[in-house]
Amino acid sequence: EAVLARIEATGEQVNAYITVDREGALADAEAADRRLAAGEAPTLCGVPIAVKDLLCTKGLRTTGGSKILENFVPPYSATAVEKLREAGAVLVGKTTLDEFAMGSSNEHCPLAVPHNPWNLDHICGGSSGGSAAAVAADQCMGALGTDTGGSIRQPASHCGVVGVKPTYGRVSRYGVLAFASSLDQVGPLTKDVRDAALLLNAICGHDPRDSTSVREPVADFSAELGRPLAGLRFGLPREYFEVGLDEDVKKAVMTAVNRLQEAGAEIREISLPRTEYGVAAYYLIAPAEASSNLSRYDGVRYGYRDQEARELLDLYRRSRSRGFGREVKRRIIIGTYALSSGYYEAYYGKASQVRALIIDDFRRAFEECDLIISPVTPTPAWPLGDKSDPLSMYLTDILTIPTNLAGLPGMSLPCGFSSKGLPIGLQLQAPHFREDLLLRAAAAIE
Ligand code: GLN
Repeated sequence: EAVLARIEATGEQVNAYITVDREGALADAEAADRRLAAGEAPTLCGVPIAVKDLLCTKGLRTTGGSKILENFVPPYSATAVEKLREAGAVLVGKTTLDEFAMGSSNEHCPLAVPHNPWNLDHICGGSSGGSAAAVAADQCMGALGTDTGGSIRQPASHCGVVGVKPTYGRVSRYGVLAFASSLDQVGPLTKDVRDAALLLNAICGHDPRDSTSVREPVADFSAELGRPLAGLRFGLPREYFEVGLDEDVKKAVMTAVNRLQEAGAEIREISLPRTEYGVAAYYLIAPAEASSNLSRYDGVRYGYRDQEARELLDLYRRSRSRGFGREVKRRIIIGTYALSSGYYEAYYGKASQVRALIIDDFRRAFEECDLIISPVTPTPAWPLGDKSDPLSMYLTDILTIPTNLAGLPGMSLPCGFSSKGLPIGLQLQAPHFREDLLLRAAAAIE
């Protein structure tokens, strides 16, 4: 009830939710009470959690932030949502996002554009902007987001909350509206590292319904918190500091690095030489996969169907033309072009080779260090409406995209504020399946 009252009081300014499920939340809370009364106390019992509107929720509208799914009610829930329920969580509602998770500002959404709780004239970041804003504004106690090229870490950084992108395959993608299947991962956005550890443990694990989900054992992440840092080696990637970093960002990150050193960690400079090619490779691979994934929205099987069409091709054309927004159409066109015969080798093929080189950069780097530490984004949140050309927005993803291309776990942790009072995040990246290390280091820095 406190969270619902908070949404009522601040919802209009922040605009973090597409759907608030008042009745469902109260019913979940009663169910949690009953479990407690029966002597059960699952980890998230009664904890109000919000879910990005890219994850299917049975019986509750799931839009993907798109007009094409504006009235879509899924017949089943995503595995991550089911797992939240098993853990006793109260599902507050569905948070806004860039349409189909394509964007870095959450402005590409016809249903709700969120405002940064720290300064309402600024973006929340994207695409999981609604989840980050809801956590920052106390409109839930934690949230789920998805990260394909930075969409958990970047909004977490801009809204001053913790965000974790797990290793590819750690969390089931079953029931998550697919954007770029080889990059997408679900993860938590929370107020602190301990909450992130709890929420991550609740959603991790093998799922036979997602063929890319792994059987790797899952540690008790909370048990790792508080272990000393002495002996851990942190790598500072030279290239991540050569991307036109804002001075406030550099200062906040270096202050955290110095604190780590004082806590007994070893800091060394490392190199990730192919960093500069990440954005170009990603903006071919992600649209290519998206163009294929989004072909299912044909006006027949799901969502919006144009009523004026006279024949089948016309139905596809009209439904898709009216249902999708500009950025989504741009990606479909880029992706279809990159996959077309005659161009496949030159674009998709080349981008996949670059991806292999970036993976190799990380492999070498992790021979020299246990964790990689850097900024999350080159600048703090920018004013709403400030970046109108797509390329300038794509370029801001330079420090988060390589993690996804390599399938690594990464996270964003608040580490200070800009001179304008906007939050700044610190990024940590670890080897595959070492979320334990990420969270342990984060807890020590926090
Ligand atoms: N900003 C990136 C994009 O627009 C990443 C989005 C994401 O991680 N979902 O594709």
